[in-house]
Amino acid sequence: MRVGLDVGGTKTEAVALDDAGVVVARVRRATTFGPDGVIATILASVEEVGAQAGGIVTSVGIGMPGQIVPGSGTISHAVNLGVRSLDVAAVVGGALGVPVDVENDVKAAALGAAVLRTAADPGASGAAESGLAYLNLGTGVAAGLVIGGALWRGVRGAAGEIGHLSVDPEGPRCRCGQRGCIEALAGGRAIAERWGRPGALPVADVFDVAEGAGPGGSERERARALRDDLVRGVAAAVRVLVLTADVDVVVLGGGLTALGDRLVAPVRAALRRSGETSPFLRSLHLDERIAVLPPGSPAAAMGAALLAAERGEEVLTVG
Ligand SMILES: [Zn+2]
Repeated sequence: MRVGLDVGGTKTEAVALDDAGVVVARVRRATTFGPDGVIATILASVEEVGAQAGGIVTSVGIGMPGQIVPGSGTISHAVNLGVRSLDVAAVVGGALGVPVDVENDVKAAALGAAVLRTAADPGASGAAESGLAYLNLGTGVAAGLVIGGALWRGVRGAAGEIGHLSVDPEGPRCRCGQRGCIEALAGGRAIAERWGRPGALPVADVFDVAEGAGPGGSERERARALRDDLVRGVAAAVRVLVLTADVDVVVLGGGLTALGDRLVAPVRAALRRSGETSPFLRSLHLDERIAVLPPGSPAAAMGAALLAAERGEEVLTVG
């Protein structure tokens, strides 16, 4: 039984997969901050999901926000977890006595999204084989690429970090120091900072005001400008991913996709508009290549559970 974890800044999700790749157990718990807290959260999650599934855990895969050098089990710069550098694979593997793989959470989610798509449409020759990009739209923006059934990590694990690709030299200042990064336009944190109104769901608030709820006048104009920036940022990300890797599909996921068609429909429209002046872009059918991860699907935890198989270059299957 393979166990996969998605360790996030506030919560940790764990799934157990049987030999056929079917999710047989799923648990969720709050993440404890700091290196010791993160390790304790991981061990408790593995124990709980293993007990729920009632089988023997043979491998553990862990997706975490932060940088992971390919082939290592060490996470670094995981600011949201309060972890500067930690050899998670060594510590967890030592405690559990099973092989442990660690991967960046967006990359793990890309693997999970590829498997979910193949499972949903086995006749479609497998997006995982022909190429899939997963675009995570959360507090930040990043992507993961699955090419030929395997994650494309790059030399230092930075492949897919397109959030800090500048697409507008006159655009808003990004926290990385550049102007007009995709993340400065489309990242949830950047939008919340630029919007400045308090609230639990600032991006949804931007859309509500832009669409006519609440204040009008200059506030509405400001909300519309932010919404337009978000849409052009996501459209730019899709364009970059398809033009770089010619993936079959760009799967959108992350907290901002809770907006559903309020976000996705204008992104598709923006991509169609870019095709109106360019026969080349039109021929790529960018708008038709977008899909959205089903809400609540545990893509990152599933992908993490399959890391051991992916590294072993086994064919990924799911029932
Ligand atoms: Zn940036």
